Amino acid sequence: MKLTIAKIGDPVLRQVAKEISPEEMSSEKVQTFIDDLIETKRAARGAGLAAPQVSVLWKIFVAEVDGNTRYPYKPKIPLTVVINPQITFLTEARFANFEGCLSVPDLRGVVERCPEIRLEGFNREGKPFNQVIKGITAGTFQHENDHLNGMIFVDRVKDSTSFCTWDEFKKHHEESFRRQVGEVVAKYGS
Ligand code: ZN
Repeated sequence: MKLTIAKIGDPVLRQVAKEISPEEMSSEKVQTFIDDLIETKRAARGAGLAAPQVSVLWKIFVAEVDGNTRYPYKPKIPLTVVINPQITFLTEARFANFEGCLSVPDLRGVVERCPEIRLEGFNREGKPFNQVIKGITAGTFQHENDHLNGMIFVDRVKDSTSFCTWDEFKKHHEESFRRQVGEVVAKYGS
């Protein structure tokens, strides 16, 4: 079932989501919700979607990039479901990421992200995982994880002059950003 995406200004996006117990992970309620979250993400053509974005305060997000029309330059991410994520930064380095969000219609802005992170959490089968994630993909996971803590990418935009609509991004910024993405991918492999 496709769910409704909350938009910036909705207080639900500012709340901290709750952890899910191992028993809850395997429940039909959570499993059906994960299916709905994936369906909603795909219908909206997002790179990721976090539970609070559909007004559910659980620590769950999904990410997937494969020929995404919203983000044609993003490296592929296989469908990944993450429950109770914990992110650790593995480097002091940062890269500039031009982000957008399904909860912030028609706005993009530059956010600094860590290009090398450790992502710990549980998959939808309740199995723990622990993965090092690099580059642009690491940025996507940080964006989704922020939603579980009541944060939106606009909070992290340091230079407000980088804000732009999607049309203006295409016109004025996409070409140079694609080059920067190419540099990040060359350096970190994703
Ligand atoms: Zn978002």
